[in-house]
Amino acid sequence: MPQRVAVSDGANKKTSRVRVAVRLRPFMGDQDEKDEGPCVKGLDSQNLEIINWRNATETVKYHFDAFHGEQTTQQEVFLSVKPILPHILSGQNACVFAYGPTGAGKTHTMMGSAEQPGVIPRAVREVCKLVKAKGDGEGWDYSIGMSYLEIYNEKVRDLLSPSSLDLPIREDKDKNILIPGLTHTTISCFSDFDKQFVPASLNRTTASTKMNQHSSRSHAVLLIKVVRTQRAPPHRQQTGKLYLIDLAGSEDNRRTGNQGIRLKESGAINLSLFTLNKVVDSLNSGTAVRVPYRDSKLTRMLQDSLGGSAHSVMITNIAPEYKYYFDTFSALNFASKSKLIVNKPFTCETVAVPVLPVKRAKEDHEAGGSGT
Ligand code: ADP
Ligand code: MG
Repeated sequence: MPQRVAVSDGANKKTSRVRVAVRLRPFMGDQDEKDEGPCVKGLDSQNLEIINWRNATETVKYHFDAFHGEQTTQQEVFLSVKPILPHILSGQNACVFAYGPTGAGKTHTMMGSAEQPGVIPRAVREVCKLVKAKGDGEGWDYSIGMSYLEIYNEKVRDLLSPSSLDLPIREDKDKNILIPGLTHTTISCFSDFDKQFVPASLNRTTASTKMNQHSSRSHAVLLIKVVRTQRAPPHRQQTGKLYLIDLAGSEDNRRTGNQGIRLKESGAINLSLFTLNKVVDSLNSGTAVRVPYRDSKLTRMLQDSLGGSAHSVMITNIAPEYKYYFDTFSALNFASKSKLIVNKPFTCETVAVPVLPVKRAKEDHEAGGSGT
């Protein structure tokens, strides 16, 4: 019987930051929107600026761990995730999530397409490669497994067994989080993974068209687990978990006009997102505030994989068109607490008439309620 090793040693003592990267997708608006120009632009590999709607002669500058401009390839985005993957093979946990408004590129970033695979297929391929490279050399046997679920309206649904109902989230005596009843399949290579993942993702997409924007309100969570067991006594065993998450849209449901949903209810739709904001905030502020993991399903599930000794990367996806302005602004404000108002016009040379679009965005904003 292998002896279990508590892998979360020191998890409560040391709190690691969530690394924050921002990815700006290419401009995709129509001709009218093209005339308005972009409302946000990159400055260098860590900084970007957005026009200040309160005063069009000012811009607001933000600083991040990484900024990926619109020309960035899928491989370049993956490189900001790649360094955390070897830790999964030695019993540590990690999580990568794509945050941002619907339409800004979260699914493109995480799943991608057959021609341009995203973070998920690249990360799974890399984990398989790392395990294979271990070979026989170090006296451990490795196995890789996957689970795939979604959280919608605070309910956990198994995407590999779609008939399952809301699954519970529990904690064992070593403070590892587990979901009893969740399907967990062993994969021995990338094609094993692909065979399960592609149809399960399709399941979710089919459900989404029936359920009215379901996918923009649910969190899709892929879990890759690497278990390694020592061949010689005492047969120590370590488990590393990697969460790869395509989050629900961060837009404010009150403003984007989900009619029939009252204010209180629209708050509940994204309780997990709201709590994730608080959790990332308290991890990154470095103060001794309580980290409110238990306040939502998503954060409760990530309690052993976000903060502590875990490695986390948040990719904030943003769009350049003015119609996304307030969602971009609130996504950036969530992602970075360090912002600087700069007293200079916003790239006058490329924004044809900066005052008009800002005024329009402001009117939309005031008509529909405030952003988060
Ligand atoms: P989200 O999942 O955040 O709602 P999507 O990933 O579905 O957004 O992206 C919206 C659209 O923009 C899709 O058609 C997608 O293919 C395209 N897109 C997003 N990001 C990029 C990018 N970096 N390069 C090219 N197309 C992109
Ligand atoms: Mg999406």
